[in-house]
Amino acid sequence: LPVVAIVGRPNVGKSALVNRILGRREAVVEDTPGVTRDRVSYQAEWMNRRFTIVDTGGWEPDARGIDASVAAQAEVAIDLADAVMFVVDSNVGATATDEHVVRLLRKTKKPVYLVANKVDDARLEPQSAALWSLGLGEPHPVSALHGRGVADLLDLVVGKLPEVSAVAKREVGGPRRVAIVGRPNVGKSSLLNKAAGEERVVVNDLAGTTRDPVDEQIELGGKVWRFVDTAGIRRRVHLSQGADFYASLRTSTALEKAEVAVVVLDVTQPISEQDVRIVDLVLESGRALVIAYNKWDLLDDDRRRYLEREIEQNLAHVDWAPRVNISAKTGRHLEKLVPALELALESWDTRIGTGKFNAFLAELVAAHPHPLRGGKQPRILFGTQASSRPPTFVLFTTGFLDPGYRRYIQRRLREIYGFEGSPIVLNMRVRE
Ligand code: GDP
Repeated sequence: LPVVAIVGRPNVGKSALVNRILGRREAVVEDTPGVTRDRVSYQAEWMNRRFTIVDTGGWEPDARGIDASVAAQAEVAIDLADAVMFVVDSNVGATATDEHVVRLLRKTKKPVYLVANKVDDARLEPQSAALWSLGLGEPHPVSALHGRGVADLLDLVVGKLPEVSAVAKREVGGPRRVAIVGRPNVGKSSLLNKAAGEERVVVNDLAGTTRDPVDEQIELGGKVWRFVDTAGIRRRVHLSQGADFYASLRTSTALEKAEVAVVVLDVTQPISEQDVRIVDLVLESGRALVIAYNKWDLLDDDRRRYLEREIEQNLAHVDWAPRVNISAKTGRHLEKLVPALELALESWDTRIGTGKFNAFLAELVAAHPHPLRGGKQPRILFGTQASSRPPTFVLFTTGFLDPGYRRYIQRRLREIYGFEGSPIVLNMRVRE
């Protein structure tokens, strides 16, 4: 889906605007200073056009950090979005912080909409006109709180969005798109550099491919791969606080563009909540998954035992993901990355025919029927694979299947068909 990013200083009303666009109040929690929100992207729809909103304002810095934070938001937004909404509080006007962001925004070729918020009635419109001076074109007066002007703004923004995100387009036969994600300092940029080595491909001349300045095409294992959003990996946003938030933001937006994610973990560090959150973001995104355990050169026997235990405790739910133990520094086992990516993508692309799938279901039910519930037993009438990428199955049943039974079906699917490296989606249609 095309991506619209929302950028602006704290308290200008970004969350209110996101809520207004989504049409539900509870979508974004109240801004609490210093609170990290995990959710950064939302599916929105306007005039039958679906798009993703990325709210870059989830981290509210202390007063000293505002400049860096807003600049970081703008940088991320410019790299990753198809359009940017830059929100200014029209009662306050443009501040020194805004000026800095404006300089960044003026340079981009992507559409930038200057949103003058808190124009709650027509009498306030003149002060929004003062924002012409920012040089970002026409200010669009809105009241995110009351909804005033938001419909007109959305008409404009959505009208100019590309059908498919420029960033997410994949030509048939084009290089497959890989996102390298992970906490800061786990070695993402080292991995990219080592993998690229001397073989960096010059992007321009690949016929029929979408060019995106933040992607790099690299030849690995005799094939060209597109590593998406590498600018975010190479160009570091220097922040003392909020680094985790920006890591999440980068992750979400990179996943949007990718088909497969390599989650990089640092084996010298305990597996953290943030690591698990990043893995879960990949699962939510429905992308294929490979886990790279990096800095293997620094691993001693003691730490290794702890590591295996941490993996069992924290990452058991993704034990189906191909695992590579690498060192971006020495190059150890880097050649295993390509087969892992290929395996994950193959699983992700897999389609199982309806006949075969129903035979599978019949066998599975015969071996282990759904437990009785209140004297009744939900039956599976029929199943089909609705789509691949990731494999998505629909079961028509006579009642909701217990979570345990759904897990059993998923487990059997993996036992029989593999699906290594791909999430499996199981949907249900209950017919009474
Ligand atoms: P990023 O923030 O995830 O991109 O991490 P970097 O690639 O910048 O790496 C962070 C630090 O870890 C740097 O000092 C790297 O030199 C170091 N590093 C990365 N990979 C390895 C590795 O495999 N082994 C060792 N010993 N150090 C590594």
